[in-house]
Amino acid sequence: MPPIDFSGVKEQTRRYADEINLRIHRVIEHACFIMGPEVVELEVALASYVGVKHCISVASGTTGLEIALRALGVGPGDEVITVPFTWISTAEVVRLVGARPVFVDIDPHTYTIDVDLLAPAMTEKTRAIIPVSLFGQMPDLERIASIAAERGVPVVEDAAQSFGATRRGRRSAGVTMIGCTSFFPAKPFGCYGDGGALFTSDDDLADKMRAIRTHGGLRRHDHPLLGTNGRLDTMQAAILLAKLPHFEWEVRERERLGARYSASLRPSCVPPVVAPFNTHVYAQYTIRVADREQAAEKLETAGVPTGIYYPKCLHEQPVFSDLGYRIGDFAQSEKASREVLSLPMHPFLTESDQDRIVELVNEFCARECTI
Ligand SMILES: *Cc1c(COP(=O)(O)O)cnc(C)c1O
Repeated sequence: MPPIDFSGVKEQTRRYADEINLRIHRVIEHACFIMGPEVVELEVALASYVGVKHCISVASGTTGLEIALRALGVGPGDEVITVPFTWISTAEVVRLVGARPVFVDIDPHTYTIDVDLLAPAMTEKTRAIIPVSLFGQMPDLERIASIAAERGVPVVEDAAQSFGATRRGRRSAGVTMIGCTSFFPAKPFGCYGDGGALFTSDDDLADKMRAIRTHGGLRRHDHPLLGTNGRLDTMQAAILLAKLPHFEWEVRERERLGARYSASLRPSCVPPVVAPFNTHVYAQYTIRVADREQAAEKLETAGVPTGIYYPKCLHEQPVFSDLGYRIGDFAQSEKASREVLSLPMHPFLTESDQDRIVELVNEFCARECTI
């Protein structure tokens, strides 16, 4: 049997090849490789898709998060609350602007921030909260916003994995003061390299983020702010524009296949929970298994690739050792990091391949795993 593809990037490239090639050739012809017309076209289309006033495209999701914190004026002496069970970028950017990451444990069912722990973690130094919409669904952003608003703290959604997901009908990246997504190739809406975007309906913040993205100024040779080179390439914008008309179909397929997995996997491997009011885009379809390493190896041998997101929590990473956290401080995050296993998930996964995966997972992951 041929091996199954984990992320579907190659198949996607093949299917949309004509439209993508056409868009790429247009860019080569006009040769405006930096901030060309496709960049503005994409920003207008995505702002409307997400349902906010402004989209500011950026060089990557990481760059976007850093620009968001700079625009909010977060710096030395400040604290930023986030989770330890996420990709490194979420906390990396806090350090890059000179602030301190303060970790709060996750809810073991959704893998997103445990909102009950948020208020106790806030201090006079808290200058921002970065909830992460991990694996493709949003946390309870209304409750987070109301806790944050009591102290006037802005919320920045890390929507790198959840572009296309909704909560109470509102799109991810469009619910908080600032939303930030990533167009890394394997994310739900990916380009052919690095890319990302910021979303807000606040005019001042939008101007600031736009300026910081382009060396701190909106006009050439005028630099009122300390900025960076954080622009999205025209070529990447063109590729995303070619893919955009297919995105809603892809989101629906991800949802359908995710539900199909959950209906047929044994409960012993703890399928993902979709929280009330949410839709899930399954950037990762992640289960919990008791003997993970052994199960992953058996699946690999049978032609089923798997991924582990994430094998180590951020408070266990050497780069954050000086924060003074210890093993045991975030029990749910640590337990998740030992048990999670992500299965192949993309809109082009066939039902027969999925059935094969389910059969093998049910066979190899039969040992009970409890939350
Ligand atoms: C991918 C990712 C990022 C960073 O995005 P890049 O475009 O790779 O810089 C940030 N946060 C989370 C949760 C991610 O998964």
